[in-house]
Amino acid sequence: MQRTPLIAANWKMNGSAALVEEMVDVLTALPLTEHAVVVCPPATLLTRFPAVCNFALGGQTLSHEISGAFTGELSACLLQEAGASYVIVGHSERRALNGESDELIAAKLARAVAAGLTPILCIGESATERQQEKTQQVLARQLDAVYASQPELLAKSVIAYEPIWAIGTGESATPEQAQTTHAFIRQHLARYNTQSAVRVKLLYGGSVNADNFTALFRQADIDGALVGGASLKPAEFAQICLAVT
Ligand code: PEP
Repeated sequence: MQRTPLIAANWKMNGSAALVEEMVDVLTALPLTEHAVVVCPPATLLTRFPAVCNFALGGQTLSHEISGAFTGELSACLLQEAGASYVIVGHSERRALNGESDELIAAKLARAVAAGLTPILCIGESATERQQEKTQQVLARQLDAVYASQPELLAKSVIAYEPIWAIGTGESATPEQAQTTHAFIRQHLARYNTQSAVRVKLLYGGSVNADNFTALFRQADIDGALVGGASLKPAEFAQICLAVT
């Protein structure tokens, strides 16, 4: 099964109008394959990107509600209207800092799909959980919470495996560690739907940079990356994008 690659940039609470311009200049000069790159800036910057360009845009989170009295929240439709076609759901920073539960993440993912956004579901274990050999248990719980009761959403999802100990630490998982875990994830996803499990894109995230990406991307079950820090450096991010083009 040939899965098309995807590189996703997570700017988190970083960036500026100037960085948007720089990134647009750099990325539009690349021969990017269609649908190969998505940039997820802070939501206020979405409309600063050109309406049509050679990469897609995404939000970093969304509300599970459709609309209403939810001060500070952003709905799937508002993100879409601002130009997003993807949205990150369940990033470990939101799980930890905003108390997002597995159940809330499942509701957000369903809302994203219902609105026509492609969710990038983030899952991953902490350093302690890995040391305690609980990685598979944690990932299975995070996946089951979303797909056990709504398996049809798998076909509409992208999944990013982001070990928490690798995020922003400069300590990426090794290609072998990442591949072993991605293979487990794909095998677990087959419980919900075997065809979708083969087709779903699995991204690796956690200290990906232009130097380590190629070896990660060579692994059979790694279809691309979710890139944090390195996605704020246009030249380096461009190199990562070119590796899948
Ligand atoms: C992330 O937060 O999604 C991420 C992968 O960050 P970094 O690449 O900086 O580790």
